[in-house]
Amino acid sequence: MASVVVAEAKPKVKILATGGTIAGAQASTSDAGYKSGTFSVENLISAVPAMKELAEVSGEQIANIGSQTMNDAVWLKLAKRINQLLATPDVDGIVVTHGTDTMEETAYFLNLVVSSDKPVVLVGSMRPATAISADGPLNLFNGVGVAVDPDARGRGVMVVINDQIFSGRDVTKSHTTSVETFRPLNHGPIGDAYLAKNRWYERPALKHTLNSEFRVDKADTLPRVDIVYSYANAPRDLVDALVAAGAKGIVLAGVGDGNSTDEVIAGLSDAAKKGVVVVRSTKVGSGIVRRNVEVNDDKLGLIAAEELNPSKARILLMLGLMNSSDPKKLQEFFYQY
Ligand code: ASP
Repeated sequence: MASVVVAEAKPKVKILATGGTIAGAQASTSDAGYKSGTFSVENLISAVPAMKELAEVSGEQIANIGSQTMNDAVWLKLAKRINQLLATPDVDGIVVTHGTDTMEETAYFLNLVVSSDKPVVLVGSMRPATAISADGPLNLFNGVGVAVDPDARGRGVMVVINDQIFSGRDVTKSHTTSVETFRPLNHGPIGDAYLAKNRWYERPALKHTLNSEFRVDKADTLPRVDIVYSYANAPRDLVDALVAAGAKGIVLAGVGDGNSTDEVIAGLSDAAKKGVVVVRSTKVGSGIVRRNVEVNDDKLGLIAAEELNPSKARILLMLGLMNSSDPKKLQEFFYQY
C-alpha cells in the first residue's frame, strides 16, 4: 500500500501594514531623502520569500503613513482588526509593520488593548526599502520568526528590530538614524531574534493583553491627553492653554524625577483642581518617577508615572480615563501596567 505523506501545516501569520520607512522609497539609493509608506503589504511580503518557510503568510493594508502621523483612528482600526483576527483559529500570530517614530507608542497601546495571548509583533526599519543594505527585510523575517514561536505567547506585544526582541511597554527609540536605535527604558531586551531561532530572557511582570482591563473594541474615539515638556524657567502658559483647549489629561515630561518650575507645578495643580488628570513623568529616558519625592503629589492632586516615559504615560492615561476619572484608581493603573 502506498503511504500518504501529510505535510505539517505551517502556522498562519497575518502581516498588517501601516507604512513607515520599512515601506519607504528613495528617489535615488544615495539620497538620504525618502517617502515613508510607499510600498504595499504585498510588496513587503514578496521581498522576503524565505518567510514562506516559517509560516503561511498573508497581508492586509491598515494604513500607509509615516508613523509621525499615526493617530487615534488608525490605532483603533488596528486594535479592532487584531482582536478580530486573533479570535479566529485562522491566525496564529500577527506582525504589524510600522514606522519607527511612534512605534513605542503603538506597541504599548496594543500591549494594553489586545485581548489574546497569541504573539503580536511590531517591526520597522531605519533604512527605506530601496536603501543600500536595507534593514527591513531581515527585521520582517525575524518578526515572523517570533510570531510563529510558541514561546512568544503570553509575553505581551513586542517590537522586533535589529535582532532584538523588546517588550512594547519598555521599548523606546533612542537614535535619529542608526539601525541600533531601539533600547529598553528600564529592563533589558526580552529576547534575541536571530533568523527564527529565538532566545528568550524575560516575561513582562506587569499586566498586559489578556489580563488588561482596557478594551477599545467598541470605542470610536480616545480622550484627549497632551504632554507638556519642562526646562529651566518654563512658564505655566502651555498648561493653562491645554486646560482651555479641553484636555482631559496632561502628562508632564518633567526634568529629573518628574520635576518642573514652581509656575508649571502650580499650573498643573490648578488643572487637577479643575478635574484635568495630571501625571508626572520625566524626559530623562529611564528610571522611576515615584510619588511625593520632591513634589507633594498627595497635596497637589497629581499622579506619578512610575516607569513610563511621557509618550507611554499618555497612552495609559488615555485608556485609564476611559475606565475611571478617580486619581487614586488612575494611580493604581500606573503601578499595575
Ligand atoms: N518617519 C518614519 C516613520 O516613523 C521613520 C521610520 O519608519 O523609521 O514612519
